[in-house]
Amino acid sequence: MTTTQEIIQLEQQYILQTYKRPEFVLERGEGVWLYDSDGKQYLDACSGIAVNALGYQNQTIVDAIREGATGLLHVSNLYHTAPHALLARDLCQASFADRVFFCNSGAEANEGALKFARKWARSKGHSDKTGFVAFTGSFHGRTMGALSVTATEKYRAPFEPLIGNVSFAEFNNLDSAREVINQNTCAVIVEPVQGEGGVTPATPEFLSGLRALCNEVNALLIVDEIQCGLGRTGSLWAYEGYDITPDIMTLAKPLAGGLPIGAILLTEAVSGAMEPGDHGSTFAAGPLVCTVAHAVLNHINTPEFLSQVKANGDYLATKLNQEVLPSPLIKQVRGKGLMWGLISEPPAGDIVTEARNYGLIILVAGPNVVRLLPPLTMTQAEIDTLIERLLKTLEAVG
Ligand code: PLP
Repeated sequence: MTTTQEIIQLEQQYILQTYKRPEFVLERGEGVWLYDSDGKQYLDACSGIAVNALGYQNQTIVDAIREGATGLLHVSNLYHTAPHALLARDLCQASFADRVFFCNSGAEANEGALKFARKWARSKGHSDKTGFVAFTGSFHGRTMGALSVTATEKYRAPFEPLIGNVSFAEFNNLDSAREVINQNTCAVIVEPVQGEGGVTPATPEFLSGLRALCNEVNALLIVDEIQCGLGRTGSLWAYEGYDITPDIMTLAKPLAGGLPIGAILLTEAVSGAMEPGDHGSTFAAGPLVCTVAHAVLNHINTPEFLSQVKANGDYLATKLNQEVLPSPLIKQVRGKGLMWGLISEPPAGDIVTEARNYGLIILVAGPNVVRLLPPLTMTQAEIDTLIERLLKTLEAVG
């Protein structure tokens, strides 16, 4: 048997060191609880970074994996299979979209969305319409295209030059957006609730203003709902909380409940520009992963489930405002549904580290924002435990 220390030593010896992992080894999970190899229990308010929306060992997911595992795992996109067709139908019927392109991750979904926007503009005969507009605080992924529309300088600088024709405007500032959106813009990409950049919801005026600016210059509006979509904000899609519809929406993280998948949802007007051979992926839309995603989507997309998320999100918001905000360490709380940021006086990393001593897993969203992304299945009693452990943590850090 390999001991905890041996596992940590192997990681440090053999894995490329792009993550700093804490000194424990996670072994199993159940509901909203995680257990390490020493048997220590943690309440999970991170959900594998917004992936485990239904928590651990969820029966819907276990059953779908069993069903998928006895069928075909992979045949490639060269052939028809039922699960990707059924999943695409249900995604379209539950959203603004007419068509879906499947991929394997969030970054890949945004890569595809940027490519589709360029091809769409070109198909209209606008060869100069190649510009993208993104925003301060944005995070769209680590691959070259997705990174090009990601604002954080330290993620970008070591890998420049990135793709060209990207302008950044200030998030939630329509005047700033107006300065850079023009006839040469093919797409504007925005997170309705910024995740990594500090859990900042877009204002309604900002998103509807962006929609209007895109209409004015005939550019596409891409909403990145990779972190904030699929029930996280209390509606199925975060854009539904605003008075807009996008032209493209990207999804990933929670869609297959923990298995890798990404999706690009498009209107017919955009998809009409794409032809066979324009884009592809070997692994994407495999029958197993689509069977699981289909089950997850239909589990979340019920009025009962979504109203539960909304009610529990309101409960968490009230608790944070009444019990956590009074802490001298916390300057502001902001968020939506079950996606919250606590703007902290000390470095957020110190709070996240201390929380583990109290059996609580949370994460950062930038240097001074503590982020809470509990599974959407977390109950009010479990939210009470989250708040208790958070308060103990703040006391210890203070
Ligand atoms: N877009 C948003 C809003 C994200 O939060 C993330 C990941 O955190 C990504 C894109 C990239 O997704 P992935 O890590 O699956 O490539």
